Amino acid sequence: MYALRLWSVRHARGLNACYRGLEAALRRMHGLFSAVGYERIERPVAAVERVVKGALFDCRMCGQCVLSSTGMSCPMNCPKTLRNGPCGGVRDDGTCEVDPHIRCVWVEAYRGSQRIPGGVQAMAQMQMAVDQRLHGRSSWLSVARELNAAKSATGGGESGGGGAATRVAATRGAPASGSGTSGGSRGGAPA
Ligand code: SF4
Repeated sequence: MYALRLWSVRHARGLNACYRGLEAALRRMHGLFSAVGYERIERPVAAVERVVKGALFDCRMCGQCVLSSTGMSCPMNCPKTLRNGPCGGVRDDGTCEVDPHIRCVWVEAYRGSQRIPGGVQAMAQMQMAVDQRLHGRSSWLSVARELNAAKSATGGGESGGGGAATRVAATRGAPASGSGTSGGSRGGAPA
């Protein structure tokens, strides 16, 4: 719902904090996810994610969430699905040149990012092209997998931080092996 999407941007700070909490929870649940099998829980978790994020962000389930880098404004709602800023056709009143009934998602992204500590700097991060193989998959599970992979690689220390769950997968490549799921995140927070 469009009104709820705008509400999420207005409350980007609180939602981002929630996502950081979710990120920590996902990190702790990696053992359980691994024991059950990531592929086995992929569909039910993705279904929950679709409902929750669909309501809050009009999530399109790209599988590579970047919400913490876009002020909780989903870039996949851009009619051109631009993930690295506006196209240049933004109207003077901040609405989209393709659909004048909606505000440019990047205008909203900047507003939301201003409410998140470090949010505007996060917007400067280059987002990789969408990996269509991840469409429909859970960004949350990707974050859980990747955070723990990073933790293992650093000998148990905390990885990056900063909204891994919502930044899931910007740097993602081919489906991961080992834990049995595809995808990944670029180290943000689950939104
Ligand atoms: S996963 Fe995140 S970036 Fe991708 S469509 Fe959903 S809300 Fe948007």
